[in-house]
Amino acid sequence: QKERISSPKNTKEIIKKYGFSFKKSLGQNFLIDQNILERIVNAAQLDQSKGALEIGPGIGSLTQSLTQTAGKVVAIELDQRLIPILNDLLKHYDNIEVIHGDVLKLDLRTILEEQFKEQTEISVVANLPYYVTTPIIMALLENQLPIENIVVMIQKEVAERMVASPGGKEYGSLSIAVQYYCEPEMVLTVPHTVFIPQPNVDSAVIRLKLRKKPRVHIEDSEYFFKVVQASFAQRRKTIINNLTSNLFTKDEKQKLISILESCEINPSRRGETLSIEEYARLSNRLREIT
Ligand code: SAM
Repeated sequence: QKERISSPKNTKEIIKKYGFSFKKSLGQNFLIDQNILERIVNAAQLDQSKGALEIGPGIGSLTQSLTQTAGKVVAIELDQRLIPILNDLLKHYDNIEVIHGDVLKLDLRTILEEQFKEQTEISVVANLPYYVTTPIIMALLENQLPIENIVVMIQKEVAERMVASPGGKEYGSLSIAVQYYCEPEMVLTVPHTVFIPQPNVDSAVIRLKLRKKPRVHIEDSEYFFKVVQASFAQRRKTIINNLTSNLFTKDEKQKLISILESCEINPSRRGETLSIEEYARLSNRLREIT
């Protein structure tokens, strides 16, 4: 099958031919728009020297475009029923490896090492299953895998939170976690009509360019994220009130005020106005003193 898998007609025929039924619980919404597929692939800036890791290939519509652009493609699919379908539909391409498994449970470092021996750079390119978008992205980032780029289609609302700057209502601990590891960019928004079956939410494609080193120096990242979580616990409260109710005690309020001031952070600001640099300064100082 060298024909496009992704056209609405072909997708419907493939589903019928193999007797496939969609599992909502696995976030199965297949893309049927070649133009959007191409824009996703272009955003990943692939060429023959590069590798692409796809998470959740479905029946292989994006996979097919990737095999034509990247030097090698590795696609990880959890649904066992799709493995023979993928192997059959992609049998004419010799630069694709389909792996059956849960991306959150596999040892990705070893897979990348073994599969991409000849590729100079690796991008993750995927139309992610929406029920596990954030855990998948955070696992890719926190494990500090040898990846240059992550180009993914996700829920629009989550994409907006990942790219948000301080001050807006979308800015929160997810923005900080993502931007600590990468430079995010909104690539495009996608109507729900380009999927079979159509999801209930709008979608967006984002590109996360991984930083060579994190944006700020943090002494203890676990403690940093505790401070961030506590500061956003109640968005309408000031940072001093959030910190005293969620991470410290009322007795420590005075001490906290002087620490915030020594970090040049006004205690009456709200958590959503602090930059990553300010959170880093604050958490490093709090950890040193408390
Ligand atoms: N890439 C295809 C496309 O664009 O048409 C399918 C995308 S669909 C939104 C998500 C795919 O991820 C499904 O094929 C689903 O079975 C698979 N999937 C769900 N959870 C997964 C997991 N934990 N690990 C790997 N694949 C998963």
